[in-house]
Amino acid sequence: MKLLFSEIFQESRSFRPSGTGWFPEKDVECVGSPQVAITAKREEEKVLLGGTIGFTALLPCDRCGKLVELRVEEEFEYIFTLDENIAVELGEMECSAEDCIAVHLKQPVIDLGEILREQVFLALPLKVLCDENCRGLCPVCGAELQDDHCSCSDNGRNRPFDVLKQLRKEQ
Ligand SMILES: [Zn+2]
Ligand SMILES: [Zn+2]
Repeated sequence: MKLLFSEIFQESRSFRPSGTGWFPEKDVECVGSPQVAITAKREEEKVLLGGTIGFTALLPCDRCGKLVELRVEEEFEYIFTLDENIAVELGEMECSAEDCIAVHLKQPVIDLGEILREQVFLALPLKVLCDENCRGLCPVCGAELQDDHCSCSDNGRNRPFDVLKQLRKEQ
């Protein structure tokens, strides 16, 4: 999915790239189809590209591993330029907003697929919990501490032989 500088004009243009080939399916499990909308315009030596992506990811809880459906929406803004000096300047000034990324390109071609993939990973939360109170799994028997009552959490410390018994049973 390439976007040429020559296809982008002063008047801003909005479009939705067709297909979902940009989505990193191998790394992120997605429920339904991911959505994307792009707006691009030219400003002298620069191309301003903004957009949003949205998708529902299926991610494992960091504590118990249960899969959680998570709706993710991300807005992004890029400024592309062929001029290295402008890119450096932008990095320091205009592009100080956290979401805006200044990119220096060697060719007047924007790799949309790469940008969208990058945004998917940036949009993923650092921490995934099925529930704020998720207590994870019992390190001894693997039961979910939230829902299940396992005897190890109550008695484990005082009665280590129960743990051994449990282990023997599992073998
Ligand atoms: Zn959990
Ligand atoms: Zn347990």
